[in-house]
Amino acid sequence: MDTRSAAAAEVRGRNVVVVGTQWGDEGKGKVVDWLTDHAAGVVRFQGGHNAGHTLVINGVKTALQLIPSGIMRAGVACYIGNGVVVDPAHLLLEIARLEAAGLDVRSRLFLSESCPLILPFHVAVDKAREALRETSGAGKIGTTGKGIGPAYEDKVARRALRVQDLKHPERFARKLRELLALHNVALAGYLNSEALEFQPIFDHAMQMAEQLKPMMADVGVRIDAANRAGGSILFEGAQGTLLDIDHGTYPYVTSSNCVAGNAAAGSGVGPHLLHYMLGITKAYTTRVGSGPFPTELPMDEPGTVGYHLSTVGQERGTVTGRARRCGWLDGAALKRAMLINGITGLCMTKLDVLDGLDEIRMCVGYELHGERVDILPLDADEIVHCQPVYEVFPGWTEKTFGVTAWDDLPLNARCYLERVQEFIKTPIAMVSTGPDRDHTILLRHPYKD
Ligand code: IMP
Repeated sequence: MDTRSAAAAEVRGRNVVVVGTQWGDEGKGKVVDWLTDHAAGVVRFQGGHNAGHTLVINGVKTALQLIPSGIMRAGVACYIGNGVVVDPAHLLLEIARLEAAGLDVRSRLFLSESCPLILPFHVAVDKAREALRETSGAGKIGTTGKGIGPAYEDKVARRALRVQDLKHPERFARKLRELLALHNVALAGYLNSEALEFQPIFDHAMQMAEQLKPMMADVGVRIDAANRAGGSILFEGAQGTLLDIDHGTYPYVTSSNCVAGNAAAGSGVGPHLLHYMLGITKAYTTRVGSGPFPTELPMDEPGTVGYHLSTVGQERGTVTGRARRCGWLDGAALKRAMLINGITGLCMTKLDVLDGLDEIRMCVGYELHGERVDILPLDADEIVHCQPVYEVFPGWTEKTFGVTAWDDLPLNARCYLERVQEFIKTPIAMVSTGPDRDHTILLRHPYKD
């Protein structure tokens, strides 16, 4: 058989990439959980433990931040790809929590040896910088304080300690000494913080290395093999398109590429394995941290729409506990997300939060310096000046909470959703109407249709 016919004869699994199309917190966790029934493996490909969603396992609440959501399904393999920055202490903590809830984690979790490590000085630098930005008047980014940005900086500067270094104590010690010296200059010199000591960091890392070694793996090879064996893979994005380091509202972004294209580079496989891009969009918009947000609404006054979205939507961060900023759906920002991710189908979440509102709005463009703009600009300083132009829809009084069939949705809710998909020129594949797995309307199955 020549190579072309051999490739044609191969039956690979079908793979889905799940990405957030807004500023994160779109409800990806529930959708990923729903889709894992069809997956042989779930992969995280970017970000770190800045992500998070709460799960209830055997009645016990657990927050998953670094470990792919597939861990909840027996038999599903979970991969942490090279694009993820890993805090080993946090990873072991998360494993311990899941094990305490009765889950088998270590035999199913594969950690890329190429992941850069987040170490205590990254966290110290992240926090000290934010404090300094605040006192200097530069304005905080509003990071999660987990050391994500500083760890990615070391990766790009080609000086990071990686998971594989944990296997070689001498190499680890040498690199750690150099890196710590550099960060200590910054911490003690101009970040008004304290220098950290080498020995406790080294000793702790070596202790953790023993626990992590059995989970270290060549993740790209494993994903490819699982897929060649016919297994379907789910690539689980974290954060959202508008927090992407290149395409988001820079500098008010996270430090990784959150877009679908990075699912391949961040897990060690080729882009030919990315078959279906499922974009997750909340029926309105939220944002944590600083940065421009054209459709933002005031949230403090009971009786206002902002207050409704914040309270009914329970918009509080899983990782930091911060209140999320809330506003109307931004269709012009979604257009940008459709373009960058090449979204195949959309999953609209939290539709039920809009129940009971008199009218619903969607931003369809902006007024910017007297001109009409119909897609979110790339320059955050310009976005600040964008005045949203809205289309207004009648609301609905009926409950959509828990609805599982399209035809059971109120007419006005269907009209709103139909207009959204027409406006962004992308079909809605799923609608989520509540937190439970069953609270889902399926229109087109990402793994089947
Ligand atoms: P960092 O990722 O901790 O550096 O934070 C940078 C920005 O991304 C801040 O505005 C954070 O609030 C935001 N961010 C990071 N992770 C998430 C997430 O999982 N959901 C929503 N926002 C996030």
